[in-house]
Amino acid sequence: MAIKEIKQKIEDLRKKLHHWNYAYYVLDNPEVDDAVYDASMRELLEVEKKHPELITPDSPSQRVGTEPVSDFKKVTHKTPLYSLDNALNLDELEDWQEKIFRVLGDSSKIDYVCEMKIDGLAMALTYIDGVLTLGATRGDGDIGEDITNNIKTIRSLPLVLNKEVSGLLEIRGEVFMPIESFEKLNKEQKEKEEKIFANPRNAASGSIRQYDSKITARRDLDMFTYAGIWDACVIARSTSDEAISQEQHQSSEIASPLVRNDKSPKTHLESLEKLKELGFKVNKTSKLCHGLEEVKNFCNSWYEKKHKLPYAIDGVVVKVNDLSLQQELGFTTKSPRWAIAYKYPPEEAKTKVLSITCDVGRTGTLTPVANLEPVLLAGTVVKRASLHNQDIIDKLDVREEDVVTVRKAGEIIPEVVSVDKDKRKHKHESYKLPTKCPICHSKVEREEEESAVRCTNYNCPAQVQRRIEHWCSRDAMDIDGVGESLIEQLLKNNLIEDPIDLYFLNKEQIEKLERMAEKSAQNAITSIQNSKEKNLDRLIYAFGIRHVGKTIADLLTSRFHSIEDLSKTTLEELTEIGGIGPKIAKSVIDFFKTDISEKMINKIKKAGITSQMKQTKIKDNKLAGKILVITGTLESMARSKAEELIKNLGGRATSSVTKNTDFLIAGVEPGSKLKKAKELGISVLSEQEFLELVK
Ligand code: NAD
Repeated sequence: MAIKEIKQKIEDLRKKLHHWNYAYYVLDNPEVDDAVYDASMRELLEVEKKHPELITPDSPSQRVGTEPVSDFKKVTHKTPLYSLDNALNLDELEDWQEKIFRVLGDSSKIDYVCEMKIDGLAMALTYIDGVLTLGATRGDGDIGEDITNNIKTIRSLPLVLNKEVSGLLEIRGEVFMPIESFEKLNKEQKEKEEKIFANPRNAASGSIRQYDSKITARRDLDMFTYAGIWDACVIARSTSDEAISQEQHQSSEIASPLVRNDKSPKTHLESLEKLKELGFKVNKTSKLCHGLEEVKNFCNSWYEKKHKLPYAIDGVVVKVNDLSLQQELGFTTKSPRWAIAYKYPPEEAKTKVLSITCDVGRTGTLTPVANLEPVLLAGTVVKRASLHNQDIIDKLDVREEDVVTVRKAGEIIPEVVSVDKDKRKHKHESYKLPTKCPICHSKVEREEEESAVRCTNYNCPAQVQRRIEHWCSRDAMDIDGVGESLIEQLLKNNLIEDPIDLYFLNKEQIEKLERMAEKSAQNAITSIQNSKEKNLDRLIYAFGIRHVGKTIADLLTSRFHSIEDLSKTTLEELTEIGGIGPKIAKSVIDFFKTDISEKMINKIKKAGITSQMKQTKIKDNKLAGKILVITGTLESMARSKAEELIKNLGGRATSSVTKNTDFLIAGVEPGSKLKKAKELGISVLSEQEFLELVK
């Protein structure tokens, strides 16, 4: 290849990788599979290896992650956070060991520690004198984002260490979302017609980087720690320390210049023990392996068992155990030489499409689903895979009876990735979404610029069922004990027609239904009754109006003090509220025109639902219709308090500066929002000026 072509190839690969990095690390919305990304990265590394003169510092091969571009405060890491080199098969693990032998000049057996490679995101925590003072994302390895308030919502993370530690202790670990929580979150996101996360890593990343810690707190994140930087701290002596230090006295070869204090761990395994003693959550599956054969056995055995873990992993991280050897081996620009990530291949399986059917959701969206010949994939039997919409079906050209490859994206959601057209022997036509609703046979519509097709009948039995399920969901009226199958039976037995009918049920009616008994019936009744006083924003959200998610529901409570008020509103009145555009307004108006909503509103009082009374009254309309954004730290009150104050005065606190923003309140150390506000000519208030304004 001529040098010009090589340069072009390098440039193309870099451009592609930069773009994918941005989608993955910044937007939490990967555009390609990891395997595709990894293959392109390897290609780039190979070309660059042959032409080292063409390597530039900004090449994705030389950099970790990507620089943070959010509104979070930037943090420069005291010790950089590296990436890991990958081994895609056992031979590559051997190659890695060879490189280690070349540096150490010795080929005797090395002890390694094998750990799960958790599919989450790396965190740097700083403890000063045993108190958590900073939590930061990895970012580009040198600069991350300050997410301290969010990290503090992780219940398993100690805010104060359970042993006396003085000085500076830096901790490294992985924030992740357990599989169960991830599935629950995606179910809720789907119900709300909000973004579905591709895998637990993206969900964890999107959740830890929320501007509102209350949202992070609801997301059920967890964290495993796997390293401590011990040299700048002193840990109080305990009985086990005594034992370790006596052992160390007898050993002559432990001396690492990095480790200043003699009670510091000398091996990675000791480091993990120390973390445990200090109160951190350490993964129990980590194992000391004597030599590479044991490492290979560990990797192979966990490949079979990995689906039994309650969290997603994408491989095994292998680390040299002896910290002094780690130091000798050191780092490349991007990763440590003493560790490697052994990556498991994505799991795929071939199966046959038995039929293609359509599910109908709460707002009438028709979702095509491939019903599959059951196939074992990533530890579970897969029978259905979502085909999302007509555009995706057309792209795949998937038809009934086709042989297809299915994959669990990020181990969780099954999807059809390709069709084996050579095996096609049938004469089925390409699948087209029905022109009538498959449940109620009403007309369906596809809105302009939307890929979704909807059933237009609000009374469609599928929509009714999903709407009642939504009413009972956690973020809406939070009715525990009334799930999908109970709702199905209540509808089948004509005991309810809409969610409000739930409030007129008695225990005896529920008790008689299949799989119900006295206790479960009583629990259902109690939770239905307990939901009557939930706040108005939840009630509005529970109505399941298209485009009205939690934020919009909350926004509506600044203008309307009861659901009746809202039901009588006009398009003009709604669009006067900042943040409510014509699309949302039209959806609200259309919803309250339906007879189903009319029936519900009429029954609300009789059912004893008092939500409207609970809404905080607007004390004063000083900030009516105004949009305010806060940046930096306020000294006189917490940000959440200031936001509540704004809301109580009729205004709205949002998180990003746009041309519609009325005021930016700049606290101490304001972020990039200040620059943006100045560029857009938006009035900037100091904290003092804000306090004057709301006095
Ligand atoms: P990596 O995920 O391959 O490995 C490094 C990371 O592993 C660490 O930062 C840490 O977060 C994590 N880790 C998990 N368990 C660990 C443990 N026990 N000990 C130490 N670290 C542990 O590297 P990366 O730099 O985070 O990401 C690169 C990879 O991300 C790529 O190989 C690719 O698979 C994926 N990626 C995909 C896309 C895409 O578009 N699909 C884009 C960018 C990156």
